[in-house]
Amino acid sequence: MSLFKSKNPSKSAASRSGFAEVALKAIHDGVIMTNRAGVIEFINPAAITMTECGSAGSAIGLDYGLVIKLESKEGRELAENENPLIQAMKTSQPLESHHASLIPLQSGKRIPVAISVLITDDMQQNRIITMRNITKELEEEGEQAEFISTASHEMRTPVATIDGYLSLALNPQTASIDERARGYLTAAQAASKHLGKLFQDLLDVTKLDDGKIKPHFEPAEMVSVVRALVGDHAMEAKESKIKLTFGTADSNTFGNNLHVEQVVYSFVDLNFMREIMDNIIGNAIKYTPEGGSVYVNVRGDGDRVLINVTDTGIGISADDIGHIFQKFYRADNSDTRTIGGTGLGLYLVKQRVEAMGGKVWAESAFGEGSTFYVSLPRLTPEEYEKRMIMVRNLEAQKMMMAAQQPAPTPQPAPVAPTPQPAPVAPAPPAAPPGPPAPQPQIVNQNINNNLNGEQQ
Ligand code: ADP
Repeated sequence: MSLFKSKNPSKSAASRSGFAEVALKAIHDGVIMTNRAGVIEFINPAAITMTECGSAGSAIGLDYGLVIKLESKEGRELAENENPLIQAMKTSQPLESHHASLIPLQSGKRIPVAISVLITDDMQQNRIITMRNITKELEEEGEQAEFISTASHEMRTPVATIDGYLSLALNPQTASIDERARGYLTAAQAASKHLGKLFQDLLDVTKLDDGKIKPHFEPAEMVSVVRALVGDHAMEAKESKIKLTFGTADSNTFGNNLHVEQVVYSFVDLNFMREIMDNIIGNAIKYTPEGGSVYVNVRGDGDRVLINVTDTGIGISADDIGHIFQKFYRADNSDTRTIGGTGLGLYLVKQRVEAMGGKVWAESAFGEGSTFYVSLPRLTPEEYEKRMIMVRNLEAQKMMMAAQQPAPTPQPAPVAPTPQPAPVAPAPPAAPPGPPAPQPQIVNQNINNNLNGEQQ
């Protein structure tokens, strides 16, 4: 006979509730049930242990807030409006597996938990709060991340060596090969570049997830920063037969074709900006067929700086667009299958944009093209000037301190290492553009007027 089937319905209900109680007592996850007002009506042994509230008798009848104390997972005190548990309890909106730190009442030590709230769909609208201790999961994730990080780091070196030797083999000045071999080696080089990018992305993912890469903020004028970054893709766009243009909607053209661009300031990490723009522009070029266009635009939008990268490429379907910023997600269709990628680029973009207090999102019409938006906090010219003065003062201080240091004692010259027949190492990425002067920029431009018109 099945456990829940009985000829006597009332006996069946009783045995069901008895079974549920036994199960709730046996599980390791903390379960607390409250009424609609948040008063505790049931607490299981795991929740008593986790919260250190003593016993079921002492917790039942209390407000849940007296028993469950939460901090953010980074260990920050949570204001009422940013405490997801309070919000879920107040608004009757369920909460799904939110990571936070639970502060037990007696010891005060922190327990990392995944907390969920379920609202019963009957008249009572009881709240069922579950808490799962995720200490072990986090440790395992940390070990995994450490392994991926070390493995990626170690594998990047041989991949760079393979790439270097392939470059030597493909260079007519250093090797002579027939056309068939050239074809094989070109394919091998494309694969080794893909592998190199994958290792680099994996390394960046583990570092960003771990909080090991922190933004190094500096004041910057965003029109010139983004223009320079777009310029770095000119050759790639030309080779892919894509028209790449840059513009700003905050601009005016006066007589004699003198074009005055407004300036838009922000406080950003310039290396992060390079990675973000390289990825979004690189994708726009990669996912746009020959003959298409990519427009990049920067403008001030109230207290935000808004950058958009618009392409006339293959577009992203409605099913995929909600997932493209997830780790390893790649839209799978006949167009994307032939285009290489790791599925990590946009995840890294999102991490970096959010670390700078910004937001990134995409809009797309499948088969027609996509626009990626990056919105960042904007500085007023006065704030920018203030921060620039701080930067200059800091630099002056550093120079003074360096001048006061005693000159180093001359050391014997190091013995030069024997030259190795090592392949050409890949060139390091160019330094990011420095912050420009805070005046409006006057440029004679003839490439972007069409863009400014379209984007406004
Ligand atoms: P990938 O290395 O695969 O390009 P990304 O994380 O950069 O990884 O992008 C994730 C997915 O989003 C891509 O695989 C592609 O399906 C889609 N995507 C990103 N940018 C574009 C774009 N401009 N046009 C069409 N699809 C895009």
